[in-house]
Amino acid sequence: MSRAKKIRKKPKTVFFVGSGPGDPELITVKGKGLLENADVIVYAGSLVKEKVLQYARHNAKIFNSASMTLNEIMRVVVNAAKAGKKVVRLHTGDPTLYSALREQADVLEKRGIPYEVIPGVSSAFASAASLKKELTMPEITQTVIFTRLEGNTAVPEKERLSELAKHQATICIFLSVGMIDKVVEELKQGYADDTPAAVVYRATWEDEKIVKGTLKNIAQKIKKAKIKKHAMIIFGETIGEGQKAEGKRSKLYDKDFEHGYRKKRG
Ligand code: SAH
Repeated sequence: MSRAKKIRKKPKTVFFVGSGPGDPELITVKGKGLLENADVIVYAGSLVKEKVLQYARHNAKIFNSASMTLNEIMRVVVNAAKAGKKVVRLHTGDPTLYSALREQADVLEKRGIPYEVIPGVSSAFASAASLKKELTMPEITQTVIFTRLEGNTAVPEKERLSELAKHQATICIFLSVGMIDKVVEELKQGYADDTPAAVVYRATWEDEKIVKGTLKNIAQKIKKAKIKKHAMIIFGETIGEGQKAEGKRSKLYDKDFEHGYRKKRG
């Protein structure tokens, strides 16, 4: 018998891909290319719009992770990668926000399986785009906070909404529309009652819904619209209806301001 060593296949790189907020055209070109070539796709079915799967090969093996545990997901991913298959783990929005990316990556690192992370358009940005608002504006705020209320996952005490509210920055709140009363109650510790508020339900989906109001009335409007999940909550002066840039323009396109790419035109 030959003494040749058994040749082991080198595991293929696993790709964590951000699918974007829903509209299949909002996945990156790179993400789409990876989906088109994938042998195995595990997608976060509770949120990833299935239309994005139109890019998959007809014979790709597709798993919906909504009903799977971490162990089950990683078993599929690890076994496929080890068998030399091209694997895409498809997340909603951007995979670096509220996606349990770290715990999955840990498993791959432990097993010596290489991986890459391909960014996606977060629902926070898709929602801002649907609202046609700029989240940062000169003299109003230069800061955006991404956060959530405590649910099954705890939130550190120093990041309570009531604490974050003190900055009066633009704030994008994930995973919390079902607890809108609590959101409002905590934000009142820092924002004025008339602070502009918007909730975008399923940004970029065919049934997208936008509800606008203020800190004072948004909870009531959300309940009336029966929005209980899958929505982005944004508060802050930057998203106000009457908000105009006049008098508070940035220096970026100012004719009296000079930078590396443009001379002053006084
Ligand atoms: N990684 C994702 C967030 C996953 S957490 C991202 O970057 O968007 C899931 C939460 O994201 C939902 O509870 C909701 O608050 C928000 N979300 C995801 N898709 C959305 C969409 N199309 N419209 C509005 N909110 C969305």
